[in-house]
Amino acid sequence: MGKFKAPKIYKFGKGSRKCKRCGTRDAVIQAYGLYLCRQCFREIAPALGFKKYS
Ligand SMILES: [Zn+2]
Repeated sequence: MGKFKAPKIYKFGKGSRKCKRCGTRDAVIQAYGLYLCRQCFREIAPALGFKKYS
């Protein structure tokens, strides 16, 4: 009682989602409904307008 574990919120949902581009489960970004791993995100980010992401 009294021990409440708050759900941890990760920027990169490890293991929860697969990258829809390459299929990896490593560091998949779910933000903006992208579901892309960091690598793929970095590759397509400029095309999406995330020019400041570097
Ligand atoms: Zn990927």
